[in-house]
Amino acid sequence: MVAPSFAIRGPRTLLRQIREAMAGDAPAQTKLNMVVRIIAGSMVAEVCSIYLRRAGGDLELFATEGLSPDAVHVTRLKPGEGLVGEIVRQGRPLNLSDAPSHPAFAYRPETGEDPYHSFLGVPLLRGGRPIGVLVVQNRTERSYGEEEVEDLQIIAMVLAEMVGAGDLLNEEALKDVEIAPHRPERLKGARFADGLAYGTAVLHEQPVAPEQLLSDDAQAEEIRLRAAIEALQRQIDEMLEGQHGLVGASYEVLETYRLFAHDRGWNRSLEEAVRSGLTAEAAVERVRSEHRARLGQARDPYLRERLHDLEDLNDRLLRHLAGDGHTARELPDDAILIARNLGPADLLEYDRKRLKGLLLEEGSSASHAAIVAKALDIPCVGRLSGLRDRVSEGDPVIVDAETGEAFLRPRPDVVKALQTRLEVRAQRRAEFARLRDTPAFTKDGAKVTLLMNAGLAVDLDILGETGAEGIGLFRTEFQFMVAEEMPRLDAQRALYERVLDVADGQPVTFRTLDLGGDKLLPYMELEREENPALGWRAVRMGLDRPALLRLQLRALIWAAKGRPLRVMFPLVASVDEFRAARAFVDSEIAWAQRRGRPAPSRLDVGAMIEAPSLVWHLDALLPMTDFVSIGTNDLMQYLFAADRGNPRVADRYDPLSPPALRALQQIQQACAETGTPVSVCGEMAGRPLEAFALVALGFDRLSMPPAGVGPVKQMVLSCDREAARRGVLTLLKGTSGSVRNEIETLARKLYVAV
Ligand code: PEP
Ligand code: MG
Repeated sequence: MVAPSFAIRGPRTLLRQIREAMAGDAPAQTKLNMVVRIIAGSMVAEVCSIYLRRAGGDLELFATEGLSPDAVHVTRLKPGEGLVGEIVRQGRPLNLSDAPSHPAFAYRPETGEDPYHSFLGVPLLRGGRPIGVLVVQNRTERSYGEEEVEDLQIIAMVLAEMVGAGDLLNEEALKDVEIAPHRPERLKGARFADGLAYGTAVLHEQPVAPEQLLSDDAQAEEIRLRAAIEALQRQIDEMLEGQHGLVGASYEVLETYRLFAHDRGWNRSLEEAVRSGLTAEAAVERVRSEHRARLGQARDPYLRERLHDLEDLNDRLLRHLAGDGHTARELPDDAILIARNLGPADLLEYDRKRLKGLLLEEGSSASHAAIVAKALDIPCVGRLSGLRDRVSEGDPVIVDAETGEAFLRPRPDVVKALQTRLEVRAQRRAEFARLRDTPAFTKDGAKVTLLMNAGLAVDLDILGETGAEGIGLFRTEFQFMVAEEMPRLDAQRALYERVLDVADGQPVTFRTLDLGGDKLLPYMELEREENPALGWRAVRMGLDRPALLRLQLRALIWAAKGRPLRVMFPLVASVDEFRAARAFVDSEIAWAQRRGRPAPSRLDVGAMIEAPSLVWHLDALLPMTDFVSIGTNDLMQYLFAADRGNPRVADRYDPLSPPALRALQQIQQACAETGTPVSVCGEMAGRPLEAFALVALGFDRLSMPPAGVGPVKQMVLSCDREAARRGVLTLLKGTSGSVRNEIETLARKLYVAV
């Protein structure tokens, strides 16, 4: 007997038939029944069935042509049970000429499937996650051909998208189904940028909409795909050649990209998908989905890493398909952006006014996206595993960066509780705004200068809003971190000039590049270090590679154009380092003058105190500096030998402890004795309770993240410094590891708003 051959008309026509069947107003089950009938008929299969996954993981027969109709919604298989469960477990097709002889075969008498021998099942994949299985069966023992498998996979993709988008089944029918995009879910992640937000999900990597899955002209689509692949290959080759000696990602990663981009298998899968009637975008999604399903299960970290590379490559290919001319997306007024991770500048492409929050599947609090989110004051939660598979465009979502959680499609009571918290925050903000122009004097008349930390051009927009009296720490490396390639002299000068223009005479302290450690540049190749926080970073790099430091100093002097200039060096660990760094400033000033460029009207050169070594050499350091600024983030990590970026150890110590406060006091006293201006610019300066302790120790210049200025000013205005000093000095003698509670009790006793 001649084996039945399906795909006579190919999936293109079939997909159109399915689409037409879906268009009517028939009840969901009737539509689904029509779909299986169409597929069976078109593929000359005696059986066609759709199984969908229930919330508990069971696979339920939702529709069938050929098996007993009584089995629909009755037959259920546990995860991993039967051939259908096996397909879900493996995330790939199963093609058998004699199904009953397969070890995983589970006999279900109610289905009446006894007479069918050949079996082809493919997973319904959405975002790489199996949400069900599509099966065709025939009586004869036969093996389905490669093309038939491919065709069925394409049909499965379209079906999965239709189910996921709610086109195929209504909410009621999908209630308990795994993919159902309407069940409330709570995901636990990590807080990257503080705040709360409630809004509408916007997917950064938009899935191809079901109506854009099918192409009208396969040939034209193939030409588009080829052009995009070639552009992608060229781009990666160019990056590898490393124009200007710089590359856009590390060499190893690019090598892997090149391997994938030129991979015949990958290319062929994409072309086949397009030939069978998918758009180029849908083809990319289909192949991506399959890779995710296969590699996503891999435990091997190497393979999982490769999956990341492939994801990036797919994203790049989609960008090439979209062309360079793609315009910025229209956002809803309350957009919450959902992404796997965001690269340099991605976040800046969105309309800031409409962007209320950010949820990331990956990332770290030191990642580009987190830095920019903090600068823009957008709450951000990251490391939300499985996020993108669980949220659809338009879903209501909550970003709770206080607890580090995301609520997808939250229940009304959760929304209500959040709204109360949002109102409290808004009220506090309004109070801080009222204080904006009030100078920060303590109740007993001591002036405390409150400054802002910044690092990106976007920060400047809020300088006026915060009421800060200047910028106490401008982190120049941020410009480098969000750029695709090394910013040149002109770009550096332009940014610094803008900062000084916006500051309009208020002081700005520029910190020279603080790279290395947790701040890595994708285009600068650095050797992997065993212990990067103690490694070749900050001013050490600047002194060893003076070209970069010189260029930056040149840009700063040029940008000052005869105005005052304040420069400081990060992570100075010895007076010799400071002396050497300062000499570069002098020689650049001399260089500028030889060129006829004006020298700054006043020049202040300072050191950051971040390495504990300097605390015991202040007598030598202070006479050669114009000012110092204490970077408590680093100083504390080195004092307590606890990595500030490692959540396991970062919270093991408390800056409100006798050793930390005594070190700070020692610095403050040495500065007071020599008349050296000193500020504190680590995160602790922006937290009211910590700032209370600092003011009590005698510090009168605090530089902090913009959101800290209001709360800290409120603290200062309510604080009697002399009383605070007496109380805190007693606590310095404490014998426990933390005196946080005692300081808090003291503040409350003194009616200080902390
Ligand atoms: C610090 O270490 O406290 C500091 C302000 O510098 P950064 O956080 O940029 O290392
Ligand atoms: Mg630091």
